[in-house]
Amino acid sequence: MPRYGKTFDMTSPVESSDLGRLELVEFPHPALLRRARPLVRIDDAIHDAVEQMFDIMYQAGGIGLAANQVGLPYRMFIVNLEARPDAGEELVFINPATSRPRGNAVQEEGCLSLPGLRMDVRRPERIVVTAWSLEGEPFEADLDGMLARVVQHEFDHLEGRLFTDRLPDAAAIEARRSLDTFREVFTGRQARGELPPTADLVARLDRLEAERCGNA
Ligand code: ZN
Repeated sequence: MPRYGKTFDMTSPVESSDLGRLELVEFPHPALLRRARPLVRIDDAIHDAVEQMFDIMYQAGGIGLAANQVGLPYRMFIVNLEARPDAGEELVFINPATSRPRGNAVQEEGCLSLPGLRMDVRRPERIVVTAWSLEGEPFEADLDGMLARVVQHEFDHLEGRLFTDRLPDAAAIEARRSLDTFREVFTGRQARGELPPTADLVARLDRLEAERCGNA
């Protein structure tokens, strides 16, 4: 089982902030580029964040969403392979760990944080995932097919990695041009005051970490 959070603090202490209204963030938002930290507390704000994450994911037509894609520095992601609230199963993975990668498969992937970019990505075909539910209960599953792929894609987000970090050389060069464009758009929005400066974004991530993550 994963090392972290064997027991969770399920309370909402007064000092922890409301997480407010969450929004999708795009590359190169600093939340996407740093390793998310394990949650030691699952409070009301986390329940609310998960609810918002499902809404955001459905609105964007996605099948998976990691917490750092909405600017939260926590090891948590959600999945619904049907991409609709009225179908499929809503899965929540908190402090996940993956193991036993087997086989490999190539499939086209996209990412809500890199809108419009789609490329073939090679990954293990099967993996085992262990995680905690939103209720703080541990679970383990041996995954294959699309679920194995989405879980690996979302797990990469928690490590601060994007699918563009997993491309063969020629494709990586192609992707780099797109990433440069995303960078220009992001800094342009900061320059116009539509997004906070990077230092402010990082300060918020540090504060959110301090509220709900251990010192490890
Ligand atoms: Zn993604």
